Order: sequence, then C-alpha cells, then structure tokens
Amino acid sequence: MLILVVNSGSSSIKYKLMDMERETVLLSGLAERIGLHGSKVKQTSDTGELVLEQDLPDHKVAMEIVLRCITDPQYGAINDVSSIKAVGHRIVHGGENFKKSMVVTDELIQGLEEIADLAPLHTIPHIVTIKSCRELISHAPQVTVFDTAFHQTIPKYAHMYGVPYELYQKYKIRRYGFHGTSHKYVSGRAAEILGKPLNELKIVVCHLGNGSSITAVGNGASIDTSMGFTPLAGLPMGSRTGDMDPAVVPFIMEKENLNVNEINDLMNKKSGVLGVSGVSSDFRDLEEAAEKGHERAELALSMFAYSIIKYVGAYTAALGGLDLLVFTGGIGENSKDMRARVLKGLAYTGLEVDEENNNTRGKEIIISKPGSKITAMVVPTNEELMIARETKALV
Ligand code: ADP
Repeated sequence: MLILVVNSGSSSIKYKLMDMERETVLLSGLAERIGLHGSKVKQTSDTGELVLEQDLPDHKVAMEIVLRCITDPQYGAINDVSSIKAVGHRIVHGGENFKKSMVVTDELIQGLEEIADLAPLHTIPHIVTIKSCRELISHAPQVTVFDTAFHQTIPKYAHMYGVPYELYQKYKIRRYGFHGTSHKYVSGRAAEILGKPLNELKIVVCHLGNGSSITAVGNGASIDTSMGFTPLAGLPMGSRTGDMDPAVVPFIMEKENLNVNEINDLMNKKSGVLGVSGVSSDFRDLEEAAEKGHERAELALSMFAYSIIKYVGAYTAALGGLDLLVFTGGIGENSKDMRARVLKGLAYTGLEVDEENNNTRGKEIIISKPGSKITAMVVPTNEELMIARETKALV
C-alpha cells in the first residue's frame, strides 16, 4: 500500500512516498520557495537526485509539479498517481475540535477554515494543498494528522492561561502544544525499546530542533507540554524567544517603535539562541564558537540546557515521578554535548550517564547506566512514518 505523506508549510511542501507493507520510504522531496523567486523541487530516490528549477506561484501548482516528479520516468518511483492509495497531511494546528487524525471531508475542510486564524501561515497552505490533492489524486482518500492532537489530553487546569475567561471563549486562547506526532511516536517507540507497557511509564520527551518542545507523557497521553498557543512558547529556540515575561512585548514595542508584525518577526526570527549569541541559530555553529571561547555562544547554550533541566524538573513533579527521559530532534539526536549538559544537571535524581553510549549520533540507544534510577534514551523521531501509519489505519 503506497501512501503519500505531505507536509505543507507557508512556502514549501515536503513529501515522502511510503510503501506501508514494509514501512519503507520510496522517495522524498521538497518543493521550496513557493510564491517566491528561485522556486524549485528537489527529490531523492534510489535512482538519484532530481532538481527541477521551476516557477511555483502557489501551492496548487507546486503540488502538480510534485506529482509530476513522483511519476518521473527516470527519477520517480511510480508510473501513475493511481498507485497512490491514500494521502496523509501533516496539519500544524487543529484547534480544540480536532482531537485525533481524521479522513478529509467537506465538513473537515470547513472546520479547518473556521480555525485558520489560529495559525494562518500554515493552515491556509494546508487547505490549498488538501484541495489540490483531492482534485489531482481524486481516487485516494486524504487524511489529516494534527500536530496538536496528541496534546488534547492535557487537563484544563494545565492548558488554560490566566487571561479573562471570556477571551478564552471568544478566541480559544489557551495552550495547544505542537510536535504532537513526534512526541507520540517517540514515547511509544521508547517504551517498545524498553520492553515495558507505555501506559505504565512516566516519560519526558525532549524534542530539540530548530523548534524545541518538551512533553510530559503519563499513561501514554500528553499531560503537559512546553509550547503553547503558538510554537513560540517554552524553551529558547533557534530564533524564537521561548518563555519570558509577557510585559516585555509591549515594552519593546514602545521603546523600539515596532508594530505587531515587526514584534512578531523579532520574537520568531531574531531571538532565541541566535539573538542571544549573535552567532547562529544552528547548534553546530554555537558549539564550535563556544569551544573557541565565544562567551555569548556559551551563554546561549547554557540558557538552553538550563531551560530543559527546569522543564524536566517541573514535568517530573507534574507526572509524580520520572521513569524515562527521551531525546529526539536534530539537537537531541545529534548533540552529545547538549545531552551531557542536561544529564549532568539531572544527576541529583540518581540518573547516571553512560558516557560511551552518549557519545553517539542519530540512532536509538540507551544512554544511562543499567542501574540508573531514570533511564535516558535517544530515539530519532519519524513524524512521516507516524502520519503514514495513522493514514493507513484510517483508510
Ligand atoms: P526542525 O525543527 O527544523 O525539524 P531539526 O530537528 O532538523 O529541525 O534540528 C535542527 C537543529 O539540529 C539545528 O540547530 C542543528 O544545528 C542541530 N544539529 C544537527 N546536527 C547536529 C550536531 N551534530 N550537533 C549539534 N547540533 C546539531
């Protein structure tokens, strides 16, 4: 059974064609700079890399070109789109009503349109892409898998903000949380590796990438997560502020004479470890600079590690204990130094690091010693596989 997994962003469409009998990837690609100059599609498969420089004025045209690449006689993996049995779409924001993955219907699209203003930069391209797929691959059912869905189990006392209740009712202002597909996959896989039932474990998952979030998983469900109404909350990230006193926002706006778009831009694109270090949003650059004695790069790394240690402590309290700490995402999977900083800060819990195992990159491995009170683990995330599995299950 071939499933196409589609992840559309504001100016890009990432895709993977998956064979779900064997859970293997037949090809993967990226249509980028949609609506901008210099747009192109890059695709990798067993037969090589296809790079197609092509005008992509909108997501509909981009999807047409993507399907042409997938069926390319030389670099494609199938002869005809009729081989695609279903399409799974990653949806960033499902609001309060989408609590699990769902098959696309007219009502579902209408439901997405109604909540589009919660994340317009993502939801509007999602809707265009879904509608295009319905037209272009009309025989195949479409499924939506929401980044927010896994967090819908967070109790109300943990997802509400201290704003007037009427504003919650009017605009649905509350914590939603993101990276849910990754947190779900990684917590499930970690329990499998440990050979213990997921619902008997107290787990904290650290998804550390360009965007980072930490989730407390109890009884197999998300009970709290660090991102909030938007993916700006929680840890300081590559270029996003993370948590801070909300009064900072009007203060900067007034002092720097910024409008809403400008302050949003500053908080999303110029802040976080990039803003603090003045070096880069990429942790490889930061680690290299810190090694050479760059003080602000070291400060940014320390802030990031400290913030993780604090969240793990808070979520251990929320869970009433901790059995398993899991690292994933580009930094969590690859940076032994960042993991070592965090694990050192958690030594008080009785967590003992296996230095040799921690000295690895990008693979499933237990990085705590056998007698350690808490098990620490690295589990590379696989959101596309999770989306394809949920799609297969629903169709
Ligand atoms: P996204 O949130 O965009 O999916 P990723 O999960 O791919 O991001 O993570 C990207 C981050 O992972 C970057 O900050 C990058 O520096 C970091 N990263 C990748 N490899 C390493 C490494 N070997 N050491 C440290 N950081 C790494």
